[in-house]
Order: sequence, then C-alpha cells, then structure tokens
Amino acid sequence: MHSLDLDRKYFTYFIDAPDLSLYSEYEFEPISVCPYCEIAISPIIDGYFCNKINDRRFVTFLCSCPVCYKTFIVKYELSLNNRSTLINYAPTSSIEKTFDPKLEVLSPDFIRIYNQSLRAKELGMSDICGLGFRKALEFLIKDYAILLNKEDKDRIERLNLGPCIREYIDNPKICTLAEKSVWLGNDQAHYVEKHSDRDVNDLIKFIDRIVFHISGELVDYDASSIQPIK
Ligand SMILES: [Zn+2]
Repeated sequence: MHSLDLDRKYFTYFIDAPDLSLYSEYEFEPISVCPYCEIAISPIIDGYFCNKINDRRFVTFLCSCPVCYKTFIVKYELSLNNRSTLINYAPTSSIEKTFDPKLEVLSPDFIRIYNQSLRAKELGMSDICGLGFRKALEFLIKDYAILLNKEDKDRIERLNLGPCIREYIDNPKICTLAEKSVWLGNDQAHYVEKHSDRDVNDLIKFIDRIVFHISGELVDYDASSIQPIK
C-alpha cells in the first residue's frame, strides 16, 4: 500500500515490468480529488499494470479513495526521462467544485469556467486548462470589482486585468494573489514561460485562495449592508 502526499506536485513510484524492460522510478502527476466523493484526497495505490501499444509504454494504477473507499483507475504514458504524462482516469463524470452560494450570485461565469477548466485538467488536458483558469480569474476579479464600484462597471469591463486589480481591489491579500495569478496565467498563454518553476497547480492554488478571501469579504459586505430599524 502506497499513500500519496497531497502537497507534492508529483509522486514517484517504482515500476517493475521486466517483459517491457521497465525497472525504475517514475514521476506521476497525482489525482488530488476523488471522482466519487469529490473530496481532496491522497489516493491509495492498490496495484498497477503496464502495457505497450505501438512502442508507447503505459502504466495504469488501480487506486482507492481513503474517504469513500471506492476504486478508480488512472492511466499514464511513460517517457524516457523517468517522467510521465497523465492520459486519463475513470470515472470522470462527477468532478465539479462547489462554491459558497454568495459567490455563485456574484460570479456564475467564474464558477462555470472554473469547472470547465477543472474538467479539462482532470481529463489530462494540462496544456489548455491553464488558459481556462486565467479566464475564470478575470471574471471573478471583474465581477468583484464591479460589486464594489458599480458606477465604474463599463470601465472595469473594458480594462485589462492588471490595472483593474491595481485600481479597484483594496484588500492587499487579494491584490497580491490576483497579480501573481495573472503572471502565472499569462505563462499559460505565451510561447516563452517566464515562471518556469511554477505551473497550473500553483495558479489553481492562488485562485482558490482568492475565492476564500472574496467569500469572506462578501460576508463582511452583507453584514455592513444591514441598516438599523427605526
Ligand atoms: Zn472518495
């Protein structure tokens, strides 16, 4: 039995398949949300098998969720440098993150685009899901800025995201997270990656933290809107 560490971007696993000349440790991108109970987990690996199709070598892990105990499978393609690429996993039907109801009211577009991007990521489309998360971030920040500055709605809608953050977001924690998220998000779109030590998982982590702070601010905003009854 082998449990994965959630905080690590990759886990290593020793693959031993003499019939395919495989005998070394490989890096794998973990599945971090159970496809059944949708709770963040470190999957338990119950076993694996390897196969070869047209000179390409694959490993498929049989995993258990430590929360609901259900079984799912994850398939990777092995490459020469002891790395691997996530091909797919099954089942995939129920991956959808739920958000605070206040956030659903603030920015339904953010939630829709975030969940589409999450689904793309879980299907192994790691090269394109980052663009989706960058777009989701823009909707979240702009909808939040418009909530706080209704009179500037038209201007905020047209403004680039960077200036929008600097001009309209007061909370320094949200501001820092959003600015850094824009940097990482732009890396997902451009030919040259400026922050090569960061990837889409960092972008998701930052966006989730922005969601946390904005959800808190929405509660503050709600409380401050209560007027005394005369
Ligand atoms: Zn589960």
